[in-house]
Amino acid sequence: MNNFTLHTPTRILFGEGQIVNLSHEIPAGSKVLITFGGGSVKSNGVMDQVYTALKDFDVQEFGGIEPNPTYETLMKAVEVVKAEKIDFLLAVGGGSVLDGTKFIAAAAFYTDEPWNILKTRGAEIKQALPMGSVLTLPATGSESNSGAVITRRATHDKQAFHSPHCQPVFAILDPVYTYTLPPRQIANGVVDAFVHTIEQYLTYPVNAKVQDRFAEGLLLTLVEEGPKALQEPENYGVRANVMWSATMALNGLIGAGVPQDWATHMLGHELTALHGLDHAQTLAVVLPSLMNIKRVEKREKLLQYAERVWGITDGDDNARIDAAIAATRGFFETMGVPTRLQDYQLDGSSIPTLLTKLEEKGLTQLGEHSDITLDVSRQIYQDAC
Ligand code: NAP
Ligand code: FE
Repeated sequence: MNNFTLHTPTRILFGEGQIVNLSHEIPAGSKVLITFGGGSVKSNGVMDQVYTALKDFDVQEFGGIEPNPTYETLMKAVEVVKAEKIDFLLAVGGGSVLDGTKFIAAAAFYTDEPWNILKTRGAEIKQALPMGSVLTLPATGSESNSGAVITRRATHDKQAFHSPHCQPVFAILDPVYTYTLPPRQIANGVVDAFVHTIEQYLTYPVNAKVQDRFAEGLLLTLVEEGPKALQEPENYGVRANVMWSATMALNGLIGAGVPQDWATHMLGHELTALHGLDHAQTLAVVLPSLMNIKRVEKREKLLQYAERVWGITDGDDNARIDAAIAATRGFFETMGVPTRLQDYQLDGSSIPTLLTKLEEKGLTQLGEHSDITLDVSRQIYQDAC
C-alpha cells in the first residue's frame, strides 16, 4: 500500500428528514445564497423544505446553473455574491450545481481572470466562501470532495479543478429527494459512481486489500441496486444504498494509498465538451474500450475484477478479461446507457479534434502509468466507435 494522507472533513447528514438539521450547520447570522439548477428542486418540493429550515436566515437565491455548469453562468453568480456580500453558499441539486458552487466560492475571492482557476487546476486558490449542500442526485461524490468540473461554452472547454478550500462543510443526503429523478439521470448516476470506483481500483496491485474490498463492495452494490433503482423508484432502501455508494466512491477513502487512472474521465470530458453527451454516457463509451486497449497493463486487476465482481473464473486470461469487459458493457446497457459512439450518432470523424483538445490541455500522459499518450487515446476513441 502506498503512503497517504486522508482528510474528509465534510459532515454527512444522511437519511430521510435530515433537512430539519440544516439550520444548525450554517453559522447564525450568515447571509446565504442558495444555488440551484433548472428548477427540479422547486417542482419536487425540496426547495420549500430548504426555505422552511432556513426561516431565521437572510436568504437569496441564484438559479439556472445548467448540467455541465458553465463559466458564463457562474460568473453571474459571482457578481451577486460580491454585490450582496454573501458569506455562505448552499448548493441544492446535483453534481453540476455543487461543482458550479465550488467555482463561485473560489472565484468570489480570486483577483486574476477566474478561468485561470481551471487552467491551474485549482492550485492558485487561496480562499473560498464556505459552502454546504443538499444533494438531489447521487452520482459525482461532489458533496464530499474538493473537486469540480466546469465548462466554458465559448471555447468548448471542460476542465476540472481541485482545492481543499472548496470542500463542502456539510452535505445533506436524503434518499427520498432522489425519487423524482428521471430514469436517465438515476442511470447516469449509477454509471458515474461505478466508473469513479473503477478509476481508483482497476490499475495495478499494491497490496491494498482494504481499499480493494471497499471498492469491490461498492461495485457489487451498484450492480445489484442500480437496476432496482430503475424498476422501483420509491424503494427507500435501494435509493439509500445507491446514494451512499456514490458518496463513498469519491470521498477519498477508496483512493487513499492506491494508484489512480482517471483517463476515462479525461477522454469523456472532451466528448461532453464537443458533442454534448451526458457525463455518464461518455464514461460508458470510453471505459470498455480503455479496458480493452490497456488489458496488458491492467491484467492482474482485470482478472481480480472479473472474478470478484462478476464471478468469472472460466477460460484463459484473455477470455476472462473479454468476459469482464462484456459484463461491464452489459451492465451499462442494462441501465439504459449505450456504450458505443455510434449509439450517439458519432462516427469517429471528430477524433482528431478531441485529440487536439487533449493536447492543448497537456493531457498527453494519462493513466496510472502516464502511458496513455495521444496515440493510445486515439486507439481508445477508435475502439469506442
Ligand atoms: P446534474 O448535471 O447535476 O443534473 C442532471 C439533471 O438532473 C438536471 O437536469 C437536473 O435538473 C436533474 N435533477 C437533479 N436532481 C433531480 C431530482 N431529484 N429530481 C429530478 N431531476 C433532478 O447531474 P450530475 O450527474 O449530478 O452531475 C454531472 C456533472 O458533475 C458533470 O458536469 C460532471 O462532469 C461532473 N462531475 C463532477 C465530479 C466531482 O467530483 N466533482 C465527478 C464526476 C462528475 P435541474 O437542473 O432542474 O435541477
Ligand atoms: Fe464522474
